Amino acid sequence: MIPITVLAGKTIALFGLGGSGIATAKAVMAGGAQVVGWDDNAASVAKAELEGIKTQDLGLADWSQFSALVLAPGVPLTHPKPHWSVELAHAHNVEIVGDIELFVRERMMLAPDCPLIAITGTNGKSTTTALIAHIIRNSGRDVQMGGNIGQAILTLEPPVTNRFYVVECSSYQIDLAPSLNPSAGVLLNLTPDHLDRHGTMENYAAIKERLIAKSDVAIISDDDDFCRAVIKRQGERAKEIVMIAKDHEIENGFYADGDKIFKAKNGAVEKIASLAGIGALRGAHNAQNALAAIAACLSVGLTLDEIIAGLISFPGLAHRMEQIGKQGKVLFVNDSKATNAEATAPALSSFPDSIYWIAGGVAKAGGIASLEPFFSRITKAYLIGEAATQFAATLDEKVSYEITDTLTIAVENAARDAAEAASPEPVVLLSPSCASFDQFPNFEKRGDAFREAVMALANIQAIGGN
Ligand code: ADP
Repeated sequence: MIPITVLAGKTIALFGLGGSGIATAKAVMAGGAQVVGWDDNAASVAKAELEGIKTQDLGLADWSQFSALVLAPGVPLTHPKPHWSVELAHAHNVEIVGDIELFVRERMMLAPDCPLIAITGTNGKSTTTALIAHIIRNSGRDVQMGGNIGQAILTLEPPVTNRFYVVECSSYQIDLAPSLNPSAGVLLNLTPDHLDRHGTMENYAAIKERLIAKSDVAIISDDDDFCRAVIKRQGERAKEIVMIAKDHEIENGFYADGDKIFKAKNGAVEKIASLAGIGALRGAHNAQNALAAIAACLSVGLTLDEIIAGLISFPGLAHRMEQIGKQGKVLFVNDSKATNAEATAPALSSFPDSIYWIAGGVAKAGGIASLEPFFSRITKAYLIGEAATQFAATLDEKVSYEITDTLTIAVENAARDAAEAASPEPVVLLSPSCASFDQFPNFEKRGDAFREAVMALANIQAIGGN
């Protein structure tokens, strides 16, 4: 735990008593402040009380006692409208912060020189965060990883010189961290997302931009218009920017051409790494993640050799293009995290042909129509869940398919068909383009069920690591 001593002696209101809220309350209390916690959910309030946190309805509290409102990132700050606790804080001139802001302030006091790498973007945040943490850990350095991935940030070990922090930040968390000043800030990509919570794309992009605005080094992709606009704006402020590009050459920065990684300086180009054969980093989207990791790790002092060793040994993250096993030449890949067509697109684009695709569940708006450019790579689709008939209609006469009752049957049938494929590496890919809750409690359980079904096949060779 990181006791938050910068608030010692103060009284703090805290709204949102979920897992990270309780962890934050404990860290603030351990640093010597009083905390008054509350939540709209009575069960969360009761749980917090059992954990020794003082609670009171903040709607009835005397706000003149509070120095700050610590808000859980899930609670609306601005859109669709500010939460009532936010309105009360504004009315009483009480500042509003999140747990990452508290971490940043504590770091500035305890060990401002300890490297902090913060990562954001619409897609690929967790993969890039895990990859960077893996590379640093693999090099023998002391690394702590958290934020929007794994552990809440204030449950990590306290900042000391030479301890590296790798922190995934959602837009909600950035919105609550006005002092965020990483040694290296990574902005991976920007596509419309969570607009219900941020109003407009411009507002969403502006929040993401704040992650790199105060960073020593800003690593920004040159692959989409919104990120390019950020590069332009920040460049005009003479900020140190390292550009990355997943599919085109650039004059300065790091770019990928297929699985080859290049460094460019004033037009002089040098090949520095290859992602060939690294199963967990397949596809152009993962090249973007790898480029960000290379740039970030170099900027905080790792050597290229250390970085390459980490890239090669990266096991990948569970449920994201996770290689589960092989049966003969057939590869089984779990991409259960892909809950919409946008997330499935990179998975389908990672394999040239002979994809035996398992999809379905609860469809999102638009279904799978946007995946048509990849249909020629799919040998057959196995459709499950509520979306099966809708997806069948989209695939009809373009891709061969069958509607299967369960995920287990889909795995068995796909494995049977893939074994007959002429291609040297057919792939059975679970990338559902759907939410899971018609059949599973969440995407993790769906991915676990896929793994189980694959492992139950005859002569399966597990691919370990996750
Ligand atoms: P996030 O944490 O931002 O949700 P993840 O690393 O968990 O991202 O990846 C989620 C899904 O997004 C993956 O299954 C993959 O299909 C896709 N993805 C991963 N990296 C990228 C990227 N750089 N650009 C676009 N899509 C990506």
